[in-house]
Amino acid sequence: MKRISEDICFIQGQDEFIPDSHVYVVGRPATHDLTLVDAGLVGKGNYKLNSIKKLGIDTRDITRIIMTHTHFDHIGCLKEITSEIPHAELWLHRVEAEELESGDDRTVYGMEMFRAMCTSQYGIPRDAFRFTVNRKLEGGEVLSLGGMEWQVLHIPGHSAGSIGLYNPAEKALIAGDVVYADYAIGRFDLHGADGRMHRDSLFRLAELDVKLLLPGHNRIMTDVQPGYIAETARQWENYLI
Ligand SMILES: [Zn+2]
Ligand SMILES: [Zn+2]
Repeated sequence: MKRISEDICFIQGQDEFIPDSHVYVVGRPATHDLTLVDAGLVGKGNYKLNSIKKLGIDTRDITRIIMTHTHFDHIGCLKEITSEIPHAELWLHRVEAEELESGDDRTVYGMEMFRAMCTSQYGIPRDAFRFTVNRKLEGGEVLSLGGMEWQVLHIPGHSAGSIGLYNPAEKALIAGDVVYADYAIGRFDLHGADGRMHRDSLFRLAELDVKLLLPGHNRIMTDVQPGYIAETARQWENYLI
């Protein structure tokens, strides 16, 4: 848990035998208009909320939660978090928003085997991931979040509704599970995934000027070298068919 810059905080995922996604808090504190990006694994709501408070953030200032996508390791503790901050809106890409609103949790679990494992391990009831989404994003929006500009990029492939958030002023990219540090990328075999789209999304991200790479898992990169995402895309493109 740390402040990466004046207006971006990082809360590291606390992986169990299933990963727990990182959470980012973005927005200038003085605006009292802060955004959480992603939530995390089932059971990690208290850890995430306590970490937020330890950063000196008043949870009443959190006005929205934006999901990079709705996999179990990102959305699992969303209800735990929203029960403490019920005023926070939920924003995510339209494709996965419509699934959540209709109670279609195939993207959440990704595959049947994983659903069976999670529901027995955590005792999760059916319909646990039905949510009302306040704003359905398409990609292409420029959001004003707590005094910062964040561009929404629809970057499908890891999941159908994966989005990235890019802040040009700090050259910061919140990439979800599309691209990680160490030339790694997210898996592309789950429900709604598409290797070819994943490749195209990587090459799109490669066009951005990124200094700060903030992925959903593993280490963050605070001094990304030019061409890093392009090189990652090239290393993977023959597998992304
Ligand atoms: Zn994912
Ligand atoms: Zn993930």
